[in-house]
Amino acid sequence: MTLKAKELKKHRISLPIYTARDIIIKEVKENPCVVIVGETGSGKTTQIPQYLLESGLAAHGTISVTQPRRVAAINLARRVAEEVGTPLGQKVGYSIRFDDSSSKDSLIKYMTDGIMLRELLSDRLLLRYSVIILDEAHERTLRTDILFGMVKGIQKQRQDLIDRGRKDIQPLKIVIMSATLDAEKFSEYFYGAKIMYISGRQFPVKILNTVEPQSDYVDSALVTAFQIHQCEAPGDILIFLTGQEEIENMEKLIEEYAIDLPPTVGKLIPCPIFAAQDTITQQKIFEPAPHGTRKVILATNIAETSITIPNIRYVIDTGCHKSRGYNAKIGIESLLVEPISKSSARQRMGRAGREAAGLCFRLYTEDSFDQLEEDAIPEIKRCNLESAILSLKATGIDDVTRFDFMDRPSKSGLLRSLEHLYALEALDDEGKLTDIGTKMAAFPVDPPYAKVLLQSDKMECTKEAIEIISLLSVDTIFAAPSSKREEANEARQKFTSLDGDHLTLLNTLRAYESVKGDRDWCRENFINSRHMRHVLDVRKQLIQFAERSGMDPKKTCGHDLEIVLKCFLAGFFQNTALLQPDGTYKSILGGLTVSVHPSSSLFGKKREAIMYDELVFTTKHFVRGVSALESNWLSQAAPKYFGQRRA
Ligand code: ADP
Ligand code: MG
Repeated sequence: MTLKAKELKKHRISLPIYTARDIIIKEVKENPCVVIVGETGSGKTTQIPQYLLESGLAAHGTISVTQPRRVAAINLARRVAEEVGTPLGQKVGYSIRFDDSSSKDSLIKYMTDGIMLRELLSDRLLLRYSVIILDEAHERTLRTDILFGMVKGIQKQRQDLIDRGRKDIQPLKIVIMSATLDAEKFSEYFYGAKIMYISGRQFPVKILNTVEPQSDYVDSALVTAFQIHQCEAPGDILIFLTGQEEIENMEKLIEEYAIDLPPTVGKLIPCPIFAAQDTITQQKIFEPAPHGTRKVILATNIAETSITIPNIRYVIDTGCHKSRGYNAKIGIESLLVEPISKSSARQRMGRAGREAAGLCFRLYTEDSFDQLEEDAIPEIKRCNLESAILSLKATGIDDVTRFDFMDRPSKSGLLRSLEHLYALEALDDEGKLTDIGTKMAAFPVDPPYAKVLLQSDKMECTKEAIEIISLLSVDTIFAAPSSKREEANEARQKFTSLDGDHLTLLNTLRAYESVKGDRDWCRENFINSRHMRHVLDVRKQLIQFAERSGMDPKKTCGHDLEIVLKCFLAGFFQNTALLQPDGTYKSILGGLTVSVHPSSSLFGKKREAIMYDELVFTTKHFVRGVSALESNWLSQAAPKYFGQRRA
């Protein structure tokens, strides 16, 4: 055994869950469903699949572990492959959207819940799998909720077939796992599943609330981190932020501030963690900080329960996270920065006390804590249900209103989504999946983007449509350091299209490719080269996908780019707004007054109609990813939608 292997084995045995190994195996063997609740870091996600593997439960199929987050799926698979002692992608693999590192022989597979749903389309009884572990069940994402209902049904179907004498079919085991969850509720839903509690280790954590509400939590997080660094005992800091942009911004701020530290104080090293990041950078967060220095981990709520980072003694909780919200009144989906729940705040605090007593700085008042919701509201109650409905319909569940949801979505939400799918021509007059809908359900993108792709095949501009969708898959390809905003804006002028952001993005990609992604060029032109590489990656995936579904991804419209915008309109007709006599824009859906975001190339411009990629609410409603339209395109783009409205 190599030294590394010995160390890993020692680590495995030292985890709190190890003492429960035999009883976990026994319960999973004896019960069809088991609910396991155990402190974050106790070893659930990395160890339980290995225990089940070691006990022979993978003899008739793969053990699948679903995760709500891609980064978590990758990280955990990498770690477990190391512990098992085989290269990633063999015995242990992962599968996430646009990236599959698993093979036919993988016995343990970490995957996002979205990928699991997609597998259901081709393997309706999930016969490839012997055990489905639904991890992080408390997160209650839309997809996990659908999975709950689906696997529950599949387990029953498989058992029925076995009872009727089918020798070729094995029972499906279901394991629900979480650090914080209403175990009784889950047990009840899963036919009275066995509940197991695994105790963890937790040292006391002292909570320090602010006395006054903070107007700028990024700024106070920064100040707090430097205070900790200069005044407190060794131990790393974990700051909870809301997204990639904020994390990158904070990373820069820390680097700038650190220059002013007195020479007697050790270095403060920012370690960001987010999805679009290469894996080597991600592995850095698990490595100890060099002697005399301190790490400050910048993370989203992925560090709450999904990934346990060692050596954290100080947590800075901004009290916010980003969540996909759904404005029920007008039916527009948007990403919102929102207050977390009490249960999230407690989890965040807990991260400071894994290895020793710690401190948790809450950048909000005690009163604000008291006003937080006890638990987050399940996504299904807040979100756009369209992907979910398509998946359900494609898996043969036609009457979605009667699906066995753990928490039923509102009837009006369901109906509105059904209407949108009808307008997208995914459903027919009877609510049955059309050919278009069937294709859309199999696409790895949300229904409106799927519609754009299908339309582009018809209108012969698949190349451009795929490129623009890839470009929209990252937050932004432009870098805009606050100190050089003017220079950055000037550089961008070169790529700007009068028609707006979709074509501006396309121009930028073309320019980037003409210099073969040269890094100096990127720097001079304020292009985020890492994001650009991610765009190329997504494009590659989409091209493969298009080929597999019988489309020709090389079809191009040449210089006649108006066609591409019309294709986007076929998917995004709901995301449109018309210029008003007073110079503002009014959204077609819901009649909101919306403003073009300052980051858009149409900022400050007046065009008769606009289409946008997303709506964000900060101080007011902003639209991002905006292009100009001619208003007479609208009825052509979605006859069902606009015809229906006029009638
Ligand atoms: P749980 O699922 O109960 O929260 P995990 O199984 O994810 O716990 O983690 C168990 C332990 O493994 C934790 O102490 C964590 O720090 C460690 N660990 C997980 N991933 C890695 C990694 N990539 N590198 C080093 N340690 C890791
Ligand atoms: Mg876990």
